[in-house]
Amino acid sequence: MIERLAHSFGALSRPLGSLAQSLGTLARPLEGLTHLLFPQVCVVCRKTLTAPEQQLCSACLTDFAPFPNPLAGGQAVIRSVNSHFGLGAIPSAAWSLYPYRSNGALHDALHAMKYEGLFPLGRLFGRWLGELVQSAGGAGEVEAIVPVPLHPLKRIERSYNQSEAIASGMAEVLDLPVVEDSIERSAYTGSQTGLGITERRKNMAGVFRPVTRNSHRISGRVVLVDDVLTTGATMVAAASALKEAGVDEVAFAVVAVTEEKE
Ligand SMILES: [Zn+2]
Repeated sequence: MIERLAHSFGALSRPLGSLAQSLGTLARPLEGLTHLLFPQVCVVCRKTLTAPEQQLCSACLTDFAPFPNPLAGGQAVIRSVNSHFGLGAIPSAAWSLYPYRSNGALHDALHAMKYEGLFPLGRLFGRWLGELVQSAGGAGEVEAIVPVPLHPLKRIERSYNQSEAIASGMAEVLDLPVVEDSIERSAYTGSQTGLGITERRKNMAGVFRPVTRNSHRISGRVVLVDDVLTTGATMVAAASALKEAGVDEVAFAVVAVTEEKE
């Protein structure tokens, strides 16, 4: 009986197989239909995207105006951190895609990434950052990518941490793990916008601390990731906590950096 049943199932599986095949053939036009019903639009100008555009249309992308070469963004990051915090060991290396501007397509895209929970956009910026690191000669012997943590309450308020999205895209390209439990944000800080450097530094003192209960300790070299570096106060504070956690070297990777006037 069981044998006969198995035989019947075998006979049934063949037409089922061809049904699956037909469904597969059907899936392609369905994809087109989904695109027609729910077209992908540019997060900045809302224009319908055409392949291979993702998240952003080519016109908005052109307006982003990246740094002229793979090393220039990192130099701008180091210049900014040094001008506010003096010559120190932090960061050991740096990378950035764009000079930050307070208006225009880049500003709108970064704002949407931060406040509209657009994980795919964050991951896309992260992949571009990863490619930039590769074309700048690679990150060297790196143990992990660490996103700048948000305070747990702010993470609930915003629904996600844009730095984690950027870190995931970078990690994908560089084939490195993302470690999110080495440091935590222990104080709820309001927006830093409009604060001077002294207030920012005061605001950030003791904001991050190493997580002692974390599952795996990291040492060696890590890449700390954030969306925008303005004065570096947040990243310098997070890097100090990473060093307290046992990390030797911290490199900085940010999508955009506010340039210091020379
Ligand atoms: Zn656009």
